[in-house]
Amino acid sequence: MELLDHCPVCGWKKPDGSKEVCRDYLLTMDLFQVVECENCRLRFTNPRPSKKEIAAYYYSEDYISHTDRKSSLMDKAYQYAKLIMLSRKVKMIGKHSKNQEQTLLDFGCGTGDFLLAAEKKGYNAIGYEPGKEAASKAQQKGVRVLCTMEDLRDTITHTKPDFITLWHVLEHMHEYPEIIDTLHDFLNKNGVLVIAVPVSTSKDANHYGRYWAAYDVPRHLYHFTPDTLVSSIVKKGFTFEGKHGLPFDSYYIALLSEKHKKQEQTGLNPGKTKLSISGIVKAATIASASNFSALLKRTPWSGEVYVFKKTE
Ligand SMILES: [Zn+2]
Repeated sequence: MELLDHCPVCGWKKPDGSKEVCRDYLLTMDLFQVVECENCRLRFTNPRPSKKEIAAYYYSEDYISHTDRKSSLMDKAYQYAKLIMLSRKVKMIGKHSKNQEQTLLDFGCGTGDFLLAAEKKGYNAIGYEPGKEAASKAQQKGVRVLCTMEDLRDTITHTKPDFITLWHVLEHMHEYPEIIDTLHDFLNKNGVLVIAVPVSTSKDANHYGRYWAAYDVPRHLYHFTPDTLVSSIVKKGFTFEGKHGLPFDSYYIALLSEKHKKQEQTGLNPGKTKLSISGIVKAATIASASNFSALLKRTPWSGEVYVFKKTE
């Protein structure tokens, strides 16, 4: 475990305002503290597994964002929502540039579904994915994926991407915030950086508190709010162009959060915890309330996409 004695974004020496104590409901059932910087309000998991240690926390069949399993009803719903969201995401980023023949880098591309969707829409797309299993699944789909930063750097020198996308990736990265400088270097002139993250000030996050599934400790090292994310990126030579909501995220997250609550009552075994109909109805109600509140701009969406343009 590593303990950060300062805020990684602003350097504040007392990042000890404990916000929430959350459990790893997926794998170890260990408790992790989420702290909030007293100066810049950045929320992060502290202490956290080191870069070497974190791999052990990803070893689970339940980590479905890196697999394409379609067994349970929940997996099916997840995969279906994913398909709809993929085409929405490609359309979303298209609005931020008018040129034809765009090059795109999907940083942390997982099993390559967004890459595939982007390619179909005419993007010249490559992916970066250090997780070998996910990368090989992506490669089997026929998309181009690089697994090391060295290979990526070599490729980028020849063609700088017009778009870099990070779909629910930044919150996992030990390299944040320095990685933003690297991505800034990688991007073409006037290039667009697209970052999607869960938002820890959404209505569903407030409702579920420590059970909120998008805390996903210790895999999520950072727990962004619109302010902390945008200010840390703008500081690195970008302008903020706008944001979009991800309306399906709240449903998926609320279902998992209900499951976490049940796990806490019934002995923590993730494989044996099944949601009752009333649990599913409760989750759908909370998720809908969260989306409604976001539509009225009272609170952020459960998951949001932030768009930035390289300026310097
Ligand atoms: Zn700070």
